[in-house]
Amino acid sequence: MNPLLGKFNTPFETPPFHLIKPEHFVPAVKEAIEEAKGEIEKIKCVEKPDFENTIEALDNCGSTLNIVTGIFFNLNAAETNADIQKLAREISPMVTSHSNDILLDAVLFDKVKAVFQQKEQLQLDEEQRTLLEKTYKSFVRNGANLDEGDKEKLRKIDAELSQLGLKFGENVLEETNKFELVVENEEDLKGLPEGIIEAAAQTAVERGKDGKWVFTLAYPSYVPFMTYADNRALRKEMFMAYNTKANKGDELDNRDIIKDILRLKDSRAKLLGYKQYADFVLEERMAESPHKVLDFLGELLQKSKPKAEQEVGELQDFATQLDGIETLQKWDFAYYSEKLKKEKYEVDDELLKPYFQLEKVVQGVFETAGRLYGLKFKPHQEIPVYHPDVTAYEVTNRAGEHVAVFYADFFPRAGKRNGAWMTSFRGQKRNASGEQRPHVSIVCNFTKPTPTKPSLLTFNEVTTLFHEFGHALHGMLADGRYESLSGTSVYWDFVELPSQIFENWCYEKECLDLFAAHYQTGEKIPEDLIRKIKQAANFHQGYQTVRQISFGLLDMNYHTTDPSTIEDVFAFEQKAMERTELLPPVEGTLMSSSFSHIFQGGYAAGYYSYKWAEVLDADAFELFLEKGIFDKETADSFRVNILSAGGRTHPSELYRRFRGRDPKPDALLKRAGLI
Ligand SMILES: [Zn+2]
Repeated sequence: MNPLLGKFNTPFETPPFHLIKPEHFVPAVKEAIEEAKGEIEKIKCVEKPDFENTIEALDNCGSTLNIVTGIFFNLNAAETNADIQKLAREISPMVTSHSNDILLDAVLFDKVKAVFQQKEQLQLDEEQRTLLEKTYKSFVRNGANLDEGDKEKLRKIDAELSQLGLKFGENVLEETNKFELVVENEEDLKGLPEGIIEAAAQTAVERGKDGKWVFTLAYPSYVPFMTYADNRALRKEMFMAYNTKANKGDELDNRDIIKDILRLKDSRAKLLGYKQYADFVLEERMAESPHKVLDFLGELLQKSKPKAEQEVGELQDFATQLDGIETLQKWDFAYYSEKLKKEKYEVDDELLKPYFQLEKVVQGVFETAGRLYGLKFKPHQEIPVYHPDVTAYEVTNRAGEHVAVFYADFFPRAGKRNGAWMTSFRGQKRNASGEQRPHVSIVCNFTKPTPTKPSLLTFNEVTTLFHEFGHALHGMLADGRYESLSGTSVYWDFVELPSQIFENWCYEKECLDLFAAHYQTGEKIPEDLIRKIKQAANFHQGYQTVRQISFGLLDMNYHTTDPSTIEDVFAFEQKAMERTELLPPVEGTLMSSSFSHIFQGGYAAGYYSYKWAEVLDADAFELFLEKGIFDKETADSFRVNILSAGGRTHPSELYRRFRGRDPKPDALLKRAGLI
C-alpha cells in the first residue's frame, strides 16, 4: 500500500512523513494523474454543462495529485537529496504535461466556454463569478480560442521562449562564474569583515590558489566586497565585471537574445488579441494596465527623487571629507553609505541579537497573531514531521475551533534551499463533502542554537520571520469555497500585502515589548535602540526607492515598446533609465543583459510589484497606526476583507472594503522619510 495514496491515518490527515519513502512518489504521481484524468473525462461527458458540473467540478479535479506533488516539491525544497532531485527530473515533466493536456483539451474547453457564455443568466455570486472568469481565462490565455494554425504558432513561440530564457540564464551564470578577483596582497583586504576574508581564502583553496584570496561575482562575495573593501580601484574592477556581464560581443552576449525574447512576447500577445505584452500580463494584476503602472512609478519618482539627490549630495560630502573623493562613482555608493550609516546610527547586529532569541520571537509572533486574530498555537507531538528540526502546531481560534496545521522549520541543513519561504501541504476549500482546513509551513535558514548559546536572530531575520508568518496567516485564515481562489492564490502584485504588512509590527514598541528581551538578563529592548532600528531602516530610502523605480521603468519600457524599433540595447536602456540616474553613468555597463528577473524569471512587466506592494502595506498599516496596532475592529476588517478573502474578487475591491478607498502612496513616502 502506497502511504501517499488514500486517506492519511494521521492527526488532521497530515502527510504521513514517517511512512513515506522516495520510491513511493513516482507510482503515486502516476496514479494521481490517472485519477485526475478520470475526473476530467467525466466533465467532458457532461451533456448540459453548468457551473456546478463543469467549473466547480474542474476546481475539485486532481486533489490527490495536488497533495502528492505538494509533499514532493516541498520536500525537494526543504529536505532534498540526490534521490529526490533525480525524482524531480522525472516528476516535473509529468506534472507539466498533465496540466498542459488540460489547458489544450478542446472538448473540455467547449464545456467551459458554454458555461462562460451563459454567465449573465446564471445568477452567480461574487466568488462563483470570479472562479468562472478565472477558469475561462486560463484556457483563453493559453490559446484555446485560436484556430489550429495559430495554436501551432503559439506552441512554437512558447517553446522558443523557454529555450531563450534558459540560454539567457546560462549566459549570465557562465559570465558570473568566469570572473574572479585574485587578491595576493593582504593590504588589499583592508576594511573587509573577518568572515568574508575567510570565505575568500577558502574559495582560493578550492581553486588551487592557496595562500591567496578569491572574490567572485556571486552575491555573498560581491556584495560584502562592494560594501566594505577600502581599495577603490579593486571595487571599480569588481563593479565593471559585474555590470558588463553578457554584453561584450562574444558568444555569451545576451543582447540579441533580449531582442528575440521581446519580439516573441510581442507576437504572442498580439496573437491572443492584446496590443502589447504588458497588456497581457497586467490583465491579471491589481494594477490592471501599463498606463497605471507608468503613472504609479512616475508619481513615486517625482516624490522620492529630491530626497535621493539630497542623500547623494550628503554622501558625496562625506566621501570628500573622509577620503578626498572628488566625484562619487557607482562603485563608491554602497561603501560610503555603509560607513555613514554606522557613524549616524551605531546600530549593528551584534548589539541587537541578544534581544531576539528565536524561541521568544516565535512566541512573540504567535502572541501578535493571537491579539490580532484570536489564534492559538499548540505544539502537536503526534503530527508527523519530515525532519526532527521541524515543529508542528495545531492552530485554533477564539472559539477553540480547529483553524489549521502550522509547521515551522527554522534551521539550515544540507538538503535545504537558501532563503526563507512560506508554503503549504494542502490548501483550504469548502464543498458539499465538507471543509478542508489548510496545512501551512514556513521554512527559514536561521542560526542554529549550540549547547551553550541559544539561537539569536539578527533584526533582519526577525523581519523575515514576520514576513513569512504574514504569508502563513494568509494561508491559515483562508475562508473560501474554491481551492484555486483560496488563501495566497491572488494576483501577483497583491500577494505580498499580508506578508509585508506584518513586518510593520516588529518596529513597534507595543509589539516588541511582547518578546524582545535580553536572553541573559531579561531586560526589555531599550527604546533608544528601537528608534535607531527605525532610523537605520529608513537610511538612504530615497536612493533605494529611485533605484527600484529605475528597474521598474526599464522593465515596463521594454514591454510597452514595439520591439522592432529596439536596435541598440545600450541606447534603449540609457534612455529608459535617464530620469533615474543619480550617479555618473559608466560607459560600457548594462543592466539589461543580466536582468534575469524579466528575461528569465517571471517578472516581465511585473518588476513594479515590489514597490506596489510596499505602497499597499504602508497604506494599510497606517489604519492600524491610527486606530491602534492591536485594534480589534481594524484587525477583524483586515482578516475578513483581506486575509480570509483569498482571490474571491478583484484585489482593488478587497482593498477598498478594508481601507474605504483606493491605496495612496503617501504612507509609504512618510514611512520612508521621503515627505
Ligand atoms: Zn513574500
